[in-house]
Amino acid sequence: MLTAEIIAVGTELLMGQIVNTNAKFLAERLTGLGISVLHQTVVGDNPRRLRDAAELALSRCDVVVFTGGLGPTDDDLTKETVAELFGAELKLHQPRVDRMRAYIRGWDRSMPENNLKQAYLPAEGDGIILPNDNGTAPGCIFEKGGKTAVLLPGPPREMMPMFLNGAEPHLRKLSGAELYSRVLRIFGIGESAAAEQVDDLIKNQTNPTVAPYAKEGEVTFRITAMANSPEEGERLLAPVAERMYREFGDKIYAEGDGATMAGTVVELLRQKNKTLATAESCTGGMIGSAITSVPGASEVYGFGFITYANEAKEQILGVRRETLAAHGAVSPETAAEMAAGAKRVSGADIAVAVTGIAGPGGGTPEKPVGLVYVGLASERGVRTVKLNLSGDRERVRTRTVLNALDAVRRALL
Ligand code: ATP
Repeated sequence: MLTAEIIAVGTELLMGQIVNTNAKFLAERLTGLGISVLHQTVVGDNPRRLRDAAELALSRCDVVVFTGGLGPTDDDLTKETVAELFGAELKLHQPRVDRMRAYIRGWDRSMPENNLKQAYLPAEGDGIILPNDNGTAPGCIFEKGGKTAVLLPGPPREMMPMFLNGAEPHLRKLSGAELYSRVLRIFGIGESAAAEQVDDLIKNQTNPTVAPYAKEGEVTFRITAMANSPEEGERLLAPVAERMYREFGDKIYAEGDGATMAGTVVELLRQKNKTLATAESCTGGMIGSAITSVPGASEVYGFGFITYANEAKEQILGVRRETLAAHGAVSPETAAEMAAGAKRVSGADIAVAVTGIAGPGGGTPEKPVGLVYVGLASERGVRTVKLNLSGDRERVRTRTVLNALDAVRRALL
């Protein structure tokens, strides 16, 4: 692993007049690149001490990142000092002079001659110039004998974009580190609640990083590590993933970008050697569609009933007329009889049934839009789950599918 030292140059820093926020930023970014930051130094605008600090840093680390001291005044000496250590020549760079003149004219000031100092840049082959889109002092990179020095300006608004656009791509290549990630798919908790539960990981981790995002009723966490080998990647990812499993337990239904709830259910059915049947009212076949979109679903799924009308529920699934009359089509009683009927008629090991009010019409104060019952029949008997879903018709239906599949998944765990 590459090692790095950060040297912030500026007497103001030493005197406590400004906080060394650049060091924090750079340390975070370097760590994220898979470069191990071993030292941070602050040194004043003093040529001898700056030289000593730079020499020491280059003797003990592969990469030394400097910030500050690139400005036009005589005490801004970082570039001259480091160039000398690298035996690099600085040359007046005419395009740079022209750009600086244009930039300063933009600010409606004439260019002080001192600014020319900033246009002395590494000669061709002696270093890489980093353009400064937010100020006059360009940065640069010197390389020699396996050592790299990155020189950045002091003002954070100049330093940060220069690092991200100019230095980081170069350092990423140098570090040879690659991104490895694990994607945890979670169902049964909202994004903000989930994010809050692992807030410390999201906020404080730099390698790996943890990022949540929500999509159609489920939450995904992507854990990304920068590492030099798959083994190292796994070593970095494992403890964070373990923590996630401790926090979310069996709410984590799968791992991977391409994973789906239906895929997980089909895989579990296959593993447990069980078959599934579905009975759908408000989803009109969407659960069956989700299951049959998984290749190989036929091994575990043979019967899907769309029983939209009460007659269909009665005639195909044997839901009793009295049940429908007494409790209505959207009721736990009907959901239970639908599931039991689907299991009986198909001979499947598990049957899941859904009945609900998808909206926009059809809601009442007692049975509002979004009220859905999931019935689940298995060898352990029949049970129902009540859902109060929000959103428009499509959203209620897609959430119903996920909840129904999740109920099957839980029954199989
Ligand atoms: P300039 O062209 O503005 O002179 P420079 O590269 O010479 O840029 P310095 O003169 O060292 O940079 O610092 C300029 C300003 O940038 C400081 O006054 C301070 O506000 C900010 N700055 C410098 N170093 C840091 C740091 N390590 N952390 C946060 N802010 C810094």
